[in-house]
Amino acid sequence: MDPRVQQFMAMIKAKNPGENEFHQAVQEVSESLIPFIEENPKYKHAKILERIAEPERTIIFRVPWLDDKGEIQINRGFRIEMNCAIGPYKGGLRFHPSVNLGILKFLAFEQVFKNSLTTLPMGGGKGGSDFDPKGKSDNEVMRFCQSFMTELFRHIGPETDVPAGDIGVGGREIGYLFGQYKRLKNEFSGVLTGKGIEWGGSLIRPEATGYGATYFAQEMLATRGDSLKGKIVCISGSGNVAQYATEKVTELGGRVVTSSDSNGFIYDPKGIDAEKLAFIMELKNVHRGRIREYAEKFGVQYFENKRPWGIICDIAMPNATQNEINAEEAKTLVKNGCICVAEGANMPSTIEAVEVFLNARILYGPGKAANAGGVATSGLEMTQNSMRLPWSREEVDERLHTIMKNIHTTCVLYGKQKDGFINYVDGANIGGFVKVANAMIAQGVV
Ligand code: NDP
Repeated sequence: MDPRVQQFMAMIKAKNPGENEFHQAVQEVSESLIPFIEENPKYKHAKILERIAEPERTIIFRVPWLDDKGEIQINRGFRIEMNCAIGPYKGGLRFHPSVNLGILKFLAFEQVFKNSLTTLPMGGGKGGSDFDPKGKSDNEVMRFCQSFMTELFRHIGPETDVPAGDIGVGGREIGYLFGQYKRLKNEFSGVLTGKGIEWGGSLIRPEATGYGATYFAQEMLATRGDSLKGKIVCISGSGNVAQYATEKVTELGGRVVTSSDSNGFIYDPKGIDAEKLAFIMELKNVHRGRIREYAEKFGVQYFENKRPWGIICDIAMPNATQNEINAEEAKTLVKNGCICVAEGANMPSTIEAVEVFLNARILYGPGKAANAGGVATSGLEMTQNSMRLPWSREEVDERLHTIMKNIHTTCVLYGKQKDGFINYVDGANIGGFVKVANAMIAQGVV
């Protein structure tokens, strides 16, 4: 490791003990940024890197609620307001038992760069709870969401901080959260994104992250004169991002052969077509069942407690969670001929796995660039809310597509090496940093 990165990371680790995912995210970014900052000393003098790695505000609160048996349950709620140099804090809420301060700080940190890359005026934030919606009734989820918002509402607002969904927070949860905010504030506003279409949501928002990651893959492939047509694609996850990535890849001529959840994955060599995807959507979004049931329904193989990275593919799209591809799995992907990795999830590849992809010189699109379509479309939802005017499906999709192309162009601008290889990690980190850093300098020591 570069000794300057080592020194910086020693400080980060001492200040934020035990927050491993946060250390990982900061290290990955500082490996790109420290050499850049050395060449641009104004950022060094203004201590931008040190400031950007410290949340502007961290809110931690108790979330008590009553389960269906009338028993009191207690969860922990969080909101990390990381950086508002270029706009109100913006970023999702995650409900998952693994949620802790370190995970949310990593996500909020990544969000700052991602939001800047979209070119829209959005700062970075993230929040959530260690609440597990799995196995809970709709009424329990509603009571939890109401209790969560009863504290969160005083910290957020359409001009201050605008949360959205993430793992475990979909349309149902956003509805309950919005209802409680509206009741507490007596105000109908764009305080959350990912809202239902009848009450202020944007068309294409549910599709945006998966579609956007696919558009980004398309752009990366085009740099090598290639396309998605005829490509075999391994996708992990079967939630929001995975579902719409599967839809768009199929529409553009690729064949998605895997789908997974936290219990295992299915392998369908014929491809998950529209009809089979409709089954997954019903299974996951309505019945909240397990992906194993797909194998039973369509007579394909199911691999319990395994991840799909051993399946031969041209393109991998990790769309489930952080650190879901390790170095060994990355080597297997490369050995099996994978030419492109587009990350729908946040930080799904470990630092060592990223090294494998970069050394193999395949097309590697890190999450903060490849999955920025979700938050970009949230930004478009905010615009429509402010104008009180909804755009058509085609209009939003076209804007999303253009934004993904622009993000790709920014990555090429900052990440193209002398030999022509595009290092999308450097491209996204530096491209996302510059605008925020310049705004921070302009706004003084705040
Ligand atoms: P969902 O909750 O809709 O789906 C998550 C999927 O990933 C589920 O299939 C889930 O399986 C699986 N999963 C979750 N945790 C684990 C785990 N620890 N191990 C294995 N599988 C796991 O979430 P999203 O689709 O919204 O989010 C997926 C990823 O995309 C996350 O990294 C998120 O941060 C990122 N992302 C999402 C955006 C959005 O707009 N929704 C925007 C940008 C990034 P199971 O059901 O068994 O838990």
